[in-house]
Amino acid sequence: MILECKQMTKQFGKLVAVDNVSFDVRDGEVFGIAGPNGSGKTTVFNLITGIYPYEGEVSFCGENINGLSSYKICHKGIARTFQVPQLFLTLPVSENVRAGAHFGSPHVRHDEEETIREVIDFVGLTEQKQTIASNLKLLDKKRTMIATALATRPKLLLLDEPIAGLSPPEIRESVAMFKRINQELGLTVIIIEHFMRVLTELSNRLMILENGRVICLGEPAEVSKDKRVIRCYLGEGHA
Ligand code: ADP
Ligand code: MG
Repeated sequence: MILECKQMTKQFGKLVAVDNVSFDVRDGEVFGIAGPNGSGKTTVFNLITGIYPYEGEVSFCGENINGLSSYKICHKGIARTFQVPQLFLTLPVSENVRAGAHFGSPHVRHDEEETIREVIDFVGLTEQKQTIASNLKLLDKKRTMIATALATRPKLLLLDEPIAGLSPPEIRESVAMFKRINQELGLTVIIIEHFMRVLTELSNRLMILENGRVICLGEPAEVSKDKRVIRCYLGEGHA
């Protein structure tokens, strides 16, 4: 197991956003997370990456990381992207990616330039290396954010709704890139996504959240047959 989450709970005032959630992620797998809006998916990422304090235990490569600050968690090898691209909009692609390379390492690396070049090539932004981020189309903003995450040299990459807002051909291109991240770069991936077809295609296992709780966890074929999942997605009559 690369990641073990045990009984994670997060309350915002009276709202229990993440309610006693436990799951494990195996080394090398693509682990999918789905569930309706507001079911706690992004909050799970925010807890793993140390944005908020929470109850429970999260172990990464066998070490409890609950309580560590975000940059230390990143140094251990966890990187993430955000639902809405978070970039330094006035800076070019290469400088955004450089920020990732700096954040990801406790000391300056002599091979930083090479890392920056490699990850920009990997996501297909070689030609736009010098483009100011605000001038990029949505797909290229998302690619820049992924390159920035990869520049931290993670073992585990968390993708939060990475294809939201993209056209069908852009989605196909992105899905192919996520497969390369998993297979060629050998990263373990956790992906939050609404499109069940994309999740089923990508994921080895899936977890479905509803109101902050795990309602189903298993292989895509089992999960898509689960009565609670069908009810949650299609309404009472279909279950
Ligand atoms: P999802 O990503 O599944 O759509 P979120 O994890 O973003 O859901 O949110 C789960 C619930 O927690 C929602 O009701 C949301 O409004 C609430 N929530 C998330 N972050 C905060 C916060 N920082 N403060 C207060 N409530 C929050
Ligand atoms: Mg979300």
